[in-house]
Amino acid sequence: MSVATPASEMPAVVSGNLLDLRRTHLFERPGDVDSLAARLRGRLITPDSPEFDGARRVVNFTVDRRPLAIAQAADADDVAEAVNFARDNGVPLAVRSGGHSLAQLSIIDGALVVDLSRMKRVRIDPEARIARVQPGTTSGDLAGPANAHGLALSTGDTHSVGMGGLTTGGGIGYMVRKYGLTIDNLLAAQVVTAAGDVLDISKDRHPDLFWAIRGGGGNVGIVTELTFRLAPVGQILGGELMLPATRETLRGYLDYAVAAPDDLTTIANLIQAPPAPHVPAEWVGKPVLAILVCWTGDLGAGEQAVAPLRALATPVADLVAVRPYPEMYTFTAHFAEPHGASIRMMFADDLSDASLDAAIDAMTHASSPYSLIQFRGLGGAMARVPEEATAFAHRRRRYFVAAIAVWLDPAENPASHEAWTAALWEKVRPDGNGVYVNFLENEGPERVREAYPPTTYDRLAAVKRRYDPTNLFRFNQNIPPWPDDSNGAQPEPVGASLAMAGIG
Ligand SMILES: Cc1cc2nc3c(=O)[nH]c(=O)nc-3n(C[C@H](O)[C@H](O)[C@H](O)COP(=O)(O)OP(=O)(O)OC[C@H]3O[C@@H](n4cnc5c(N)ncnc54)[C@H](O)[C@@H]3O)c2cc1C
Repeated sequence: MSVATPASEMPAVVSGNLLDLRRTHLFERPGDVDSLAARLRGRLITPDSPEFDGARRVVNFTVDRRPLAIAQAADADDVAEAVNFARDNGVPLAVRSGGHSLAQLSIIDGALVVDLSRMKRVRIDPEARIARVQPGTTSGDLAGPANAHGLALSTGDTHSVGMGGLTTGGGIGYMVRKYGLTIDNLLAAQVVTAAGDVLDISKDRHPDLFWAIRGGGGNVGIVTELTFRLAPVGQILGGELMLPATRETLRGYLDYAVAAPDDLTTIANLIQAPPAPHVPAEWVGKPVLAILVCWTGDLGAGEQAVAPLRALATPVADLVAVRPYPEMYTFTAHFAEPHGASIRMMFADDLSDASLDAAIDAMTHASSPYSLIQFRGLGGAMARVPEEATAFAHRRRRYFVAAIAVWLDPAENPASHEAWTAALWEKVRPDGNGVYVNFLENEGPERVREAYPPTTYDRLAAVKRRYDPTNLFRFNQNIPPWPDDSNGAQPEPVGASLAMAGIG
């Protein structure tokens, strides 16, 4: 299937400069938007549509942007129509699946947003253990139907995150040590390129593109379907184990998390204990280590595997039990609520006592009771995939560390929360390097390079040059198609378009 405008016929310059945008013929002839609407099987929502305010909202409530229009795609052909329209009219193009972009890049002022949130079809072949999902599907949308067949895919820790954004970045989930990243289970995909071609890709078909969408974060195309291998996981031993937060418990967690059997994946959130029925009153507001435990092996052996964590200290609360895998999402359901966030993330191989002390101290004095400092022990299956196999190269790192300020009242000033994140970041940063692209904010080109070691970066840039030579897909952690030494010869600096959109 093809709705191609060959790359050779694409305009030499596709400007994302929003001042230029006002000069495009689109603004002079708004009827063109109607022509796009007429070609879509889905809906085109414009600022005068009653649905506009709802459609431009994402999970981060500080994002209050007014796109030119939102194309709620029904299928890949709709996506291709929107891509062709944006490219041919010089209109900036943003892509939204689940709307959880930590960099706030899925809704952009003045852009045409390709909104895939209505593309939620999930098809499961239980015999073949394969799921075909559309990009607007969330982790939760997939987990339930898969569990009905005793199957699961390791995605993220929160039910509402979209498979489109999560998968294109990599996907670090509850079973990463046993079943690898989400992309390690991706067998094939359907992608719409900047030329408007709808391509079926796999390791045998367009292997360069298939390599790049597994970690390249939306730089090379818009994914319209994902085909995954599912794991035989129904019941797990899982839930939340809450321990007092001390240097010893944190150190004990970090040591064990990477030494445990692969069947045990954990995510430890340093938080202020919430006022919840399972939390003793004397602990509420105090720093605790809330460890999300997911054991996928023999259920009888699970207790033994979790025992070293329970032995680190007398638990404040222990909700670890045999349960269906999708119930893991009940422990993080609050992350899916609208919120503001300020985040800094790094990979680390060792963490100093000074960093652990700084983290506990920061949590004691957090600017918001909803903030967290997240530690994940990695390794296992994720580390056994060769670094060059996908565009996610940080395979051998031991720890994922993220400072995440979270606030729930839109009236709060983000500045105090951002200052909290920045202060902690300054203290722990010497222990880390490298970042997971899906946990980057808009932190500049140097940090994008931290997400991609040089070999990966250069290979991604080559794929970008081939499939998106004018950088139509620029609202992402951008890998420009032009070489570093082009001395600004590119149509316009990516940083400039972000700044114009108010997010630089
Ligand atoms: C509360 C919360 C919890 C999280 N937990 C985890 C976790 O446990 N593990 C983990 O790995 N990540 C996690 N993340 C990060 C998450 O993977 C990224 O924020 C991801 O980009 C969100 O995907 P989305 O589709 O919801 O976002 P969107 O905002 O819709 O998209 C984000 C970006 O992804 C790209 N993109 C989206 N859809 C497509 C597509 N179909 N084709 C090509 N590019 C596309 C675009 O560049 C877009 O700007 C979490 C994020 C949040 C907010």
